[in-house]
Parts: sequence; C-alpha cells; structure tokens
Amino acid sequence: MIVMAAVEKWYGGFRALADINLTVRRGERIVLCGPSGSGKSTLIRCINHLEAYQKGEIRVGGTRLGDDGRSIEAVRREVGMVFQHFNLFPHMTVLENCMLAPMRALKLGRREAEATARGLLERVRILEQADKYPAQLSGGQQQRVAIARALCMRPSVMLFDEPTSALDPEMVKEVLDTMIALAGEGMTMICVTHEMGFARQVADRVIFMAEGSIVEEAPPDTFFTQPRHERTRKFLGEIL
Ligand code: ATP
Ligand code: MG
Repeated sequence: MIVMAAVEKWYGGFRALADINLTVRRGERIVLCGPSGSGKSTLIRCINHLEAYQKGEIRVGGTRLGDDGRSIEAVRREVGMVFQHFNLFPHMTVLENCMLAPMRALKLGRREAEATARGLLERVRILEQADKYPAQLSGGQQQRVAIARALCMRPSVMLFDEPTSALDPEMVKEVLDTMIALAGEGMTMICVTHEMGFARQVADRVIFMAEGSIVEEAPPDTFFTQPRHERTRKFLGEIL
C-alpha cells in the first residue's frame, strides 16, 4: 500500500529524514513514536507531499510520488490526514467542512456529498452538530469532525499526526475510540501518537524514530516488553 525506500528529506542543510525504509500493507496499523524533533511529522507529511523529499522513492497504491501535480493529486486521493490542531475551516459549518473536498475534488453533486457527509458524521457520532461552526464545538468534537471530513474523501489510508495531544484529557478517549473503531473496520493507518494504550490495543507494529531514522520496529508486545535499543528503552522510560 505504502512503500518508502531509502527516503531522505532535507530542510536546507538539515537532514530531517535519513534512509527511511518502510512498507505498510493494506489494512495494517502502524504507530509511530519518538522524541520531539525526531522526524515523525516530516515522515507522514512526505507521504502525501505536504513536504517534498529529495532522495529515494515513495509509492502509494500504484503511484510513484514525484514532484509533478498529477502524482501528487493521485496520492492525495488515497490518503486522508488528521492533524493535531484539527484544521477545520472556521467559516464553514461542520457539514460544509465535510462536503467541500468531495464536491471539489471528487466532483460529487451537492446531494451526494451531503449524504456521504451525514453518514460519516453519524459514524463518528456527531451528526447532531452538523449545522454548528467549529468554534462552537469542543476540541474532541472538532477532532471527530476532522476525522469524518477526511473519511468523506474515501481514502484508502489515514495518517494521524498527534490527533489527541492538543485535547483536554477528558476528550482524548472519544477521539481514540473513533480511531479504534476505524482500525476495527480494516482501515490502513499510520498514527503518530504517544498514546501507548492505543498502540497496545490496535497497532500491528510500533515504530520508534530518533534523529530522522527508524531505530526500532516491533509488534507492540515485543516493543514494550523487550525493546532492543538503548535509545528506545530511554524513550519508553520517559513516557510510560
Ligand atoms: P514533535 O514530536 O515535536 O512533533 P517530530 O518528530 O514530528 O517532532 P518534525 O516536526 O518532523 O519532528 O521535525 C523534524 C526535524 O526537522 C526537527 O529538527 C525540526 O526542527 C525540523 N523541521 C521541521 N520542519 C521544518 C521546517 N519547515 N524547516 C526547517 N526545519 C524543520
Ligand atoms: Mg510532530
């Protein structure tokens, strides 16, 4: 589904990703963790070309992601993204937020886009808020809208970048529950998160990054009980 082969990403003279090799199969759930500045956001942002990469190759589905508009557009159709700070359009209602991209990019008619949006808002249990504006919702509700909005594009992969770290503690669970449900439906997911309970429950593999490289990856039982690298042990010691 996703292949990253020998990927390097530079910000000017600073190498943010070094020799990243990662294959994600359809239906697989990956949790990506690591210290601040280790390149987690950069890695997932490269997958849908929110950041360009300089070396190696990224393929999503059948498409090789280059710098051309056509491959970027093809890849973005496959990939849904959810950010730490929700990034909803503030001047649009919840329903409009969910209808915009399907109408523009998938050329759905208004009626079909609305039906899809309502269906997905129902799935994240927030349909009753459809006519509100983002500022009128709690953080947890906004994040569930952001998930529904991404799903409206019918992605085959979902990328999450610390979706719960800007939330008040009492709202974390409702967002994690939504993600767990999505995982249960077989969605391919890469989640940057330090919610290790979530990692234990849904991840097929946990990947630990440091200084732009993948240091260690393992199924959660092994990752948490028998980390191989000192760097991983230190990190787990700090967050668990
Ligand atoms: P955090 O846990 O704090 O979100 P992260 O693992 O997501 O960290 P990245 O945001 O991917 O880390 O950043 C990796 C490195 O690249 C950091 O050293 C960061 O300072 C640098 N970096 C990120 N974005 C840029 C940018 N636009 N320009 C220059 N350097 C950047
Ligand atoms: Mg980050």
